[in-house]
Amino acid sequence: MTTYTFADLPYAYDALEPVIDATTMQIHHDRHHKAYYDNFLAAIKDNPLNGQPLETIFAHISKESAALRNNAGGYYNHNHYWNIMRPHGGGEPKGALLDAINSAFGNFDACKAAFKDAGVKQFGSGWAWLIVGKDGKLAVTGTPNQDNPLMDTAAVRGTPILGCDVWEHAYYLHYQNKRADYLDAWWQVVNWDYAAECYAQATA
Ligand code: MN
Repeated sequence: MTTYTFADLPYAYDALEPVIDATTMQIHHDRHHKAYYDNFLAAIKDNPLNGQPLETIFAHISKESAALRNNAGGYYNHNHYWNIMRPHGGGEPKGALLDAINSAFGNFDACKAAFKDAGVKQFGSGWAWLIVGKDGKLAVTGTPNQDNPLMDTAAVRGTPILGCDVWEHAYYLHYQNKRADYLDAWWQVVNWDYAAECYAQATA
């Protein structure tokens, strides 16, 4: 049985400034993410999938309610998002992940450009992702709303390595309508150690 928990932010609200401001982080974690978590618990409560890992739930999500899909997605996606960022992050990927990026995209800059493109072009609310696909190769994709590439509804399926929230609640206080500027600045807070862990698990 998986126990679902709501974790504290792994750093202070202001730890990602100036890339992401403290007010945005506090509202995003304490209100938006908490609401997804609470609504997920309500949606899973009387479901036979209760207690299953989120990955198992996502693999069958096409048969489930919109409430479960949206809130399980919102719960998982934000857990990933807080951990894929850190204070004094940024820099460049290393080791096996860098090798895979070079193999899939040619170089890191081309990978960043594809990721930004997925984020900018995601119409309305959603997420940009770097994933390990079923073929074991890295790919960039976008998902609407709180969907993610683990869901059996996703156009491109795979395991998340990097996920960036492009809902307006993630950036609007500081960047207003300039989603592209948020996506450019976001690389400064990426936690490449966590990305490497995700990559190692996805390719184990
Ligand atoms: Mn969000």
